[in-house]
Amino acid sequence: MERYVLLAPAKINLYLEIIGDRPDGFHELAMVMQTVELSDRITLSTLSTDTIRVRCNHPEVPNDESNLAYRAAALLGEKFPKAFARHGGIGIDIEKNIPVGAGLAGGSTDAAAVLVGIDMMWKLGLTRIELQSLGAQLGSDIPFCISGGTAIATGRGEKISPITDLQGLYVVLGKYRSLSVSTPWAYKTYRSQFESNYVREEASLLARQERVHSGPMVAAIAQQDGETIAQRLYNDLEKVVLPEHPKVQALRDACAACPEALGAMMSGSGPTVFALAKTLEDAKAIRKTVSSQIDDEDLALWVTPLHSAGVRVEKL
Ligand code: ATP
Repeated sequence: MERYVLLAPAKINLYLEIIGDRPDGFHELAMVMQTVELSDRITLSTLSTDTIRVRCNHPEVPNDESNLAYRAAALLGEKFPKAFARHGGIGIDIEKNIPVGAGLAGGSTDAAAVLVGIDMMWKLGLTRIELQSLGAQLGSDIPFCISGGTAIATGRGEKISPITDLQGLYVVLGKYRSLSVSTPWAYKTYRSQFESNYVREEASLLARQERVHSGPMVAAIAQQDGETIAQRLYNDLEKVVLPEHPKVQALRDACAACPEALGAMMSGSGPTVFALAKTLEDAKAIRKTVSSQIDDEDLALWVTPLHSAGVRVEKL
């Protein structure tokens, strides 16, 4: 039996601007994405039956066809039926370390790992671009999860332009265990509240793209300037998620008020809040202060460094 173990890291958004509506119904976005070290561990194995089987140690993650990791395997099975028949079924075991429904792309990164792992297992020889374009058929965050590091993501989030990797910073992640935010809800609510600012026609979309405000963030990343990066953190979805969840606003405020924090923001559609710190000691101090100020057992906090790559094979 063949077996591959892959690490599938989470992402945070350093920048998320909603530009307008696309003809396909998705939002047109301008984002800066960053991989962090906190990762799920995905074990892929061959099965003697021609089925796809998913197991996960987290009770909220489905084990059926609705699991994004399952869908990634099914997509490759459909595209490469001969390889699927030759190698038999696929077992996918997910050790979930990334919080679920958290704005950290947990499901997307699992799917990215399955695409990368099956490509190796079946010796398909797909390029990174080919894997990313398959991933984009399943979810907008998957192409970034495959390459990782620091990147600009445009379109509906699937067009990736890698930039200089941001290095040396540490991240404190905070999430209320029992609170999840549905990504479709966040975008739908944003649309209903801010539709009047939306750009729709293709020509105006191009002109509006010239006016995205992510330039200073990208420049600060090029200079590895943590202070300016922290000042330029931006996420349009905070406008709908924070008013709906005052606890998340309070968590964000508590993180931002820590003297060791360079800055704090919500990641993606939330509800995870992150704080940036210059050193591991500073990050640990933020975690300690926040957990003593917010005395709530439901609050989970993690400290994790940035990471400069996406899915990778675990060195055993
Ligand atoms: P994103 O940041 O990409 O919007 P997220 O971090 O907010 O994603 P996920 O953790 O990917 O959210 O989970 C969203 C929902 O997707 C979960 O409620 C779960 O039911 C479903 N799901 C399907 N497959 C997975 C998976 N492999 N891991 C986690 N959730 C999954």
